[in-house]
Amino acid sequence: MDKLSVLKEYFGHKRFRSGQEEIIDHILRGSDVLGIMPTGAGKSLCYQVPALMLNGMTVVISPLISLMKDQVSSLVSSGISAACINSSLSQEEYSETMHRALRGEFRLIYAAPERLGTQEMRRLASAVRISMVTIDEAHCVSQWGQDFRPSYLRISEFIESLPVRPIVSAFTATATDTVREDIVRMLGLNAPFTLVTGFDRPNLYFSVLKPHNKYAELRRLLEGFGDKCGIVYCLSRRNVEEICDKLNDDGFPATRYHAGLSDTERKNNQDDFIYDRKRIMVATNAFGMGIDKSDVSFVIHYNMPKNIESYYQEAGRAGRDGSPAQCILLYGAMDVRTNNFMIEKSRDDNTELSDEEKDIMLERDRQRLKEMTFYATSTDCLRQFMLGYFGEKAPGYCGNCSCCVTGFEEVDMTVDAQKIVSCVFRVKQQGRYFGKSMIVDILKGSENERLVSLGFDKLSTYGIMKDTSARRIRAEVDHLIENGYLCNSTGDYPVVELTASSAKILKEHIPVTIKLPKEKKEKVKKQRSELSDIDSVLFEELRKLRGRLAAEASVPAYIVFSDSALRDMCRVLPTDKEEFLNVSGVGKRKAEKYGDDFCAIIKKYVSSHPGVL
Ligand code: ADP
Ligand code: MG
Repeated sequence: MDKLSVLKEYFGHKRFRSGQEEIIDHILRGSDVLGIMPTGAGKSLCYQVPALMLNGMTVVISPLISLMKDQVSSLVSSGISAACINSSLSQEEYSETMHRALRGEFRLIYAAPERLGTQEMRRLASAVRISMVTIDEAHCVSQWGQDFRPSYLRISEFIESLPVRPIVSAFTATATDTVREDIVRMLGLNAPFTLVTGFDRPNLYFSVLKPHNKYAELRRLLEGFGDKCGIVYCLSRRNVEEICDKLNDDGFPATRYHAGLSDTERKNNQDDFIYDRKRIMVATNAFGMGIDKSDVSFVIHYNMPKNIESYYQEAGRAGRDGSPAQCILLYGAMDVRTNNFMIEKSRDDNTELSDEEKDIMLERDRQRLKEMTFYATSTDCLRQFMLGYFGEKAPGYCGNCSCCVTGFEEVDMTVDAQKIVSCVFRVKQQGRYFGKSMIVDILKGSENERLVSLGFDKLSTYGIMKDTSARRIRAEVDHLIENGYLCNSTGDYPVVELTASSAKILKEHIPVTIKLPKEKKEKVKKQRSELSDIDSVLFEELRKLRGRLAAEASVPAYIVFSDSALRDMCRVLPTDKEEFLNVSGVGKRKAEKYGDDFCAIIKKYVSSHPGVL
């Protein structure tokens, strides 16, 4: 089977996303690869598709049990034979899994790194051909990363111990050069094909709010999110407790997660969230790594985190399935102080560092906090700011962040600049300079007496901007002055004069852009609510069915179908299994398993809404 058929038949997707195909091709040609792609980009498919095509088994190393379990249930529900080996298995389950593995029943085995050195793993390696070893969340191998796991250091030893060296593929969302070098070195990657895809997540709406009363704002936001699920991040455990209690008192289904809770409670609360029993998770940054819940619709930061890396990682847990999702930061000046305090305090935590090293580290942390604060107070496009921080160029207007939507937008004023400068030039030809108001009046075509008496209504530039508001023209004149294309003489009566650069506008027609407050606010928002009212009724019914099926199978709802698959059902409106396969996210196995149930609802909907098909 070729890669596209695998993609369609097992995963139900029609095409590869950017980067996926290249990585897969290199793996299939036998090359090691390193994929650096943001959260939600679809790294799993990059190794799962070739795993189904290679001759032999793929061992996937993954840091967290929850993550493994999730991936494996998702694969199994798509009809792929996979299993995991970790400490959560009972002795019986473990021997059963091993038994089946030895018979070569699995295409993919997910293993915790701790398991690699065991007797059984060695036995398995000698009995079954391991064609690829994949390291997910590969940054865990780097001591510079925030998620360093010592057990990851054993991976290269395991790879070397195999009778035939497998293809090694590594994946992470962490992009810094140090971490990347560490991954290549520590895992012993062999001239890996390295792919770094853009870090943009176009479906995420970024916004910064500066509410007087954070809790009231939080409540307002949560009410607006209806029964969608999301995460509220706080800086401290105490904050988590307080906010979670208040939300519960106010009738919101919230649960909590932080390092101070017992293992059991943490696990239970996490499951409540993943299985949609509680739709709001209030947590510290301890929550999230390895949470693959793909239908998180919002991530609200109740406090500003300590740096942009953390922010982007945490916020990025929203909208993994590609559906529109919101990342909202509630900023307060107090957050800067709290973070500063925590940074200074961290001096005492790192006992193994020398004083000098500590100084360097603290300075770096302070600098990062400053950048984070710039983000929170920026009036420019937030997405551009963030991508710029990670070294990526982006346009100054994304249309999907609070600054672009409610703040400012970059507008081309090249032609206006030519009109304005040539107006100043014409006036000068009359032998005089005038102030800003006169220039604006001429361009606007005003009939004010003085203007007419001076004969300026005869100028070729008279009225050539009559459809532009006076306020806008004035702003543009100011902008040209700020940028040196015109100047404002400083005298008793300030007049607008030409400068040495004015010719660039008139003769060279150089492009000029200006940032202006957005005139229409609603447009972007409207485009984004894709579902019409009728669709949302159907969507709701499909969602309920999904919930029922998930509960019956004891898996999280998004393992059955993602929100974006449900949305596609509302678009495609399939009424039989054949058509059901056309839905993005529906593969063969899922069509067989769930097709009838979903099609039944859609059929009913279609027959009661004649004309929709
Ligand atoms: P990552 O590990 O990079 O954070 P995942 O592998 O968990 O991301 O994938 C995120 C989401 O993207 C999943 O819901 C997955 O089904 C979806 N996805 C991945 N590849 C595709 C594709 N080619 N077409 C449509 N959806 C995709
Ligand atoms: Mg992943």
